[in-house]
Amino acid sequence: DMKDFLGDRCVLPNSTSRFKDMLTEDNPNYALLSERTLNECIRNIPFTSVCLESLLGEGSFGQVYKGKLIKHGETKEDLPIAIKKLPAGSFNENISDFLLEALTLGKFDHKNIVRCLGITSDPRGELLLILELMEGGDLRKYLRSHRQKEDLTIKELLKISLDIALGCQYLEENKFIHRDIAARNCLLSSTDSNKIAKIGDFGFAKDIYGTDYYKKSELTMVPVRWMPEESFKNGKFTSKSDVWAFGVLLWEVFSFGQLPYEDLTNCEVMAKVMNGHRLGQPKLCPIQLYTLMGDCWNTEPEKRPCFKTIVTIFTTLYTHSYAQSALTSNGICSLKVNGGK
Ligand code: ADP
Repeated sequence: DMKDFLGDRCVLPNSTSRFKDMLTEDNPNYALLSERTLNECIRNIPFTSVCLESLLGEGSFGQVYKGKLIKHGETKEDLPIAIKKLPAGSFNENISDFLLEALTLGKFDHKNIVRCLGITSDPRGELLLILELMEGGDLRKYLRSHRQKEDLTIKELLKISLDIALGCQYLEENKFIHRDIAARNCLLSSTDSNKIAKIGDFGFAKDIYGTDYYKKSELTMVPVRWMPEESFKNGKFTSKSDVWAFGVLLWEVFSFGQLPYEDLTNCEVMAKVMNGHRLGQPKLCPIQLYTLMGDCWNTEPEKRPCFKTIVTIFTTLYTHSYAQSALTSNGICSLKVNGGK
């Protein structure tokens, strides 16, 4: 079945897809969408201040470059940036999706959410989204690059998880439903010990709020492996479905970027999850954390913890692992001794 070979996202068969009746929590962020709002929320940067340097990656819209914002801010120093390019001649719907992502990001102000500095357009009329540069690249790639050696400490994995939980808590407080919390959508500021993990991609969140997205097509690509039953069955997304996805992200972090339910097809994942099947405890995952994952994967959304609670738990775990790893030379052992299987 071709549907199952599309990687992280799959098209739901018509029978299960009821996304045209999408149910969401009320979202104050998008009530005022108009051109005026757009101008107020996104800074227009003159193209002459933007310097493109090298290609960073390929996104769903177009290419992402590394570059500089010349003589930026009060210090008048060049600022390293990432530039997302929307190719000229893109469909109108892609342009509005692109601007909506800029608008979404532009509204947020949190250290664990990638900052959007503004938009600009080049002489050929291509739109460019100017973002904070995240030198460490995406979280999944980073985790996978350490998979062979498994040489990241629990402390480091907890710090990454806490960072993302803080970003999620901010979204929850602002009644914003992300809908695609996953390691591939998180970016790292660097790969050294000072790294900060941030939620970096709002490419899916916009789908829900795009004016008539679901009228265009009844099919949409959805990340089934990160979704609870109520989302893939009824198209219902809430902060509690983001909590489920966060639980899967935790599992990815402690499995060094493994694909969730690796041996199952997307359709099998849906069937099994509905029957109560859940992801297993990763080798490096402390039991306290696996218990938390289990809570995130409660069938009943209201029984899942909120991000505020999750952050509290992580702060304790992180501080605890700090205290312990100070005593042992290797942070990997410390929490496992206490709570490993
Ligand atoms: P997609 O739209 O397919 O989800 P993106 O357009 O967000 O992907 O990004 C594609 C790739 O570009 C990412 O995997 C990442 O490696 C890189 N990238 C995106 N944003 C940034 C950024 N702010 N800083 C550094 N690299 C980035």
